[in-house]
Amino acid sequence: MKEKDLMEKVVALAKRRGFVYPGSEIYGGFAGFYDWGPLGTKLKRNIKHAWLRDTVERRDDVVDIDAALIMNPKAWEASGHVGGFSDAMVECKKCHHRFRADQVKNECPDCGGDFGVGRQFNLMFETRVGAAEGSESVAYLRPETAGGIFVNFKNVLNSTRLKLPFGVAQIGKAFRNEINPRDFVFRTREFEQMELEYFVKPDEDEKIFDEWVKRRFAWHESIGLKKVRLREQAKEERAHYSKATTDIEYEFPFGWQEIEGVANRGNFDLSAHAKASGIDLTYFDEEAKERYLPYVIEPSAGVERIALALMCEAYTEEKERVVMKFHPHIAPVTAAVFPLLANKPDLVKLARHIYEALKADHSHLGSFAWDDRGNIGKRYLSQDEIGTPWCITVDFESLEKNDVTVRDRDTTKQERIPIANLKEYFARKLG
Ligand code: ATP
Repeated sequence: MKEKDLMEKVVALAKRRGFVYPGSEIYGGFAGFYDWGPLGTKLKRNIKHAWLRDTVERRDDVVDIDAALIMNPKAWEASGHVGGFSDAMVECKKCHHRFRADQVKNECPDCGGDFGVGRQFNLMFETRVGAAEGSESVAYLRPETAGGIFVNFKNVLNSTRLKLPFGVAQIGKAFRNEINPRDFVFRTREFEQMELEYFVKPDEDEKIFDEWVKRRFAWHESIGLKKVRLREQAKEERAHYSKATTDIEYEFPFGWQEIEGVANRGNFDLSAHAKASGIDLTYFDEEAKERYLPYVIEPSAGVERIALALMCEAYTEEKERVVMKFHPHIAPVTAAVFPLLANKPDLVKLARHIYEALKADHSHLGSFAWDDRGNIGKRYLSQDEIGTPWCITVDFESLEKNDVTVRDRDTTKQERIPIANLKEYFARKLG
């Protein structure tokens, strides 16, 4: 399949089956904004759960917070975003379309016109807070979630008594007024980040940076991404706060692109916030009996970019079907339950009972769907297309033998499993 075709097919499936819709579609859409449908919302939730399990829940050195999205604008001045969070932009003299300077050559890709003199374009969205007119009321939608973590460094330290090294994680929306939103949900103006600020002793930063790069790479593989690689950023590419950055890239149909960046931010942020706020943000190291500003290692991942990578990776065309081969932990629906025929009350009753029991036992692990429309073959195809790993069917034999068929999405093979063993069967499958 051609790469362009793959992208078109993924976009079409995403809309048809309720993963992603164009934003505000009935008003003609809105460039750079998308709305996530019922299945896409579950997909995103599963990505976030997998990240939280690995980054927060399974560790005792990481806590998570939920900071305000709009912060005191002084914080973004201190962090360098007001002055420096910008991309070089060029505008075509003929059609006036604007482009990121690093993404175009000498002529306008839309009309072939010449570009005027370039300028820096700040990516932060401005908003106004309160009723007062005037510059005091200007604030910004956060361009990354990290800011909320740095300004709470002292609060978290005081309320938890964590000792270095420790991390503060956060999942939440971030906004960037991208010059050219593109490639479906890859580059949008509103997106969700999963960020960890892992604070370390200044001389341990390089070692711990390497550990996080490895750990994050392994996580992407664990959720089913195969076409991933690491790429070290060159000095001139790095953000203004970064000492070193390694990107985790995915091979999208439009090329290798970043899905996560792991940065060594040194003590840039804590030092800038301490200076601007006048608050001491040093850490007292009880063993060494000294105060210092910790360094910070930051793995920062985008939920939508990972969701898009997962959709591209999963999309498979076989002879008579389209299958989304999602990892079972990531699939929006874990298993679907069917009565073989919808008009046989005994089958429906038993299937319904199994469905309710699965939901009660495993809702923490997955999500279960009910389908009794059309014929069984169509139901299988419909579940394949959204990537449901297993389909459970209650047939006439089930009424006599107290078992069901479980069909595997990838092999399409069916096996008979006693109803009494289903709970254990899925517990084992879902690990
Ligand atoms: P790019 O170079 O592609 O603009 P970036 O290096 O500015 O990305 P970071 O600031 O490192 O991105 O942000 C961390 C993560 O947030 C990225 O790896 C990506 O997954 C996500 N992200 C950043 N910008 C966007 C965007 N416009 N749309 C969707 N996700 C984004």
